[in-house]
Amino acid sequence: MTHLDAPTPDVGGTDLVGALLDAAHHLAGLGLSPGASGNVSIRIGDEVLVSATGTRMADLARDGLSRIDLEGRLIEGARPTKEAPLHLGFYRRSPELRCVIHLHSPSAVALSCLPPHSELSAVPPITPYFVMRVGQTPLLPYAAPGSAELGRHVERLPFPFRAALLQNHGSVCAGETVAAARDSMIELEAAAEIILKLPVGGFRPLSDEQAREVAEAHGSYWGA
Ligand SMILES: [Zn+2]
Repeated sequence: MTHLDAPTPDVGGTDLVGALLDAAHHLAGLGLSPGASGNVSIRIGDEVLVSATGTRMADLARDGLSRIDLEGRLIEGARPTKEAPLHLGFYRRSPELRCVIHLHSPSAVALSCLPPHSELSAVPPITPYFVMRVGQTPLLPYAAPGSAELGRHVERLPFPFRAALLQNHGSVCAGETVAAARDSMIELEAAAEIILKLPVGGFRPLSDEQAREVAEAHGSYWGA
């Protein structure tokens, strides 16, 4: 059993909650969570600590986390963000994932309003770094924020991925560590910003073969 007001060590002795709060503050400091948008979570065993409703990424603290189970039932703390189902979708489909971050970062939101690059990825493989740190990033069809449908979309997509754009809404990145999810989010926002600077239809991404080669070498996903 974890306690929200105490450091939460994992098997390696890392304070996972401390790392999560640091990541939230860092991403907010980069301007990636406008207003009170954005939420973060970590999985510990069969429980998830997720931002409570009404919290802000910039000053998220230990008492701003809710402890819930994988069905979204509250165990301890304040009511969880209404976007918790999105986080739980990742944890339910991929038990190795430990952290999920959801933002309304401006360039990713802009890209989420455009047609997707392909069925597998809203974002084309513009650089090897995007492919290795983020990988294919499907566009989830629009569903109202906080609806269980968003979580179901994540859970049921029949190909591997660790990041997604939510149509006309934002971005979500997951990782086996807090650092991986945080860095993936930063790289995804950078990729979206670059794409928006390129002429529509007039740029050259990596080929699917090049992207697959990078993904295989770095443990990310590209291709079905
Ligand atoms: Zn949102």
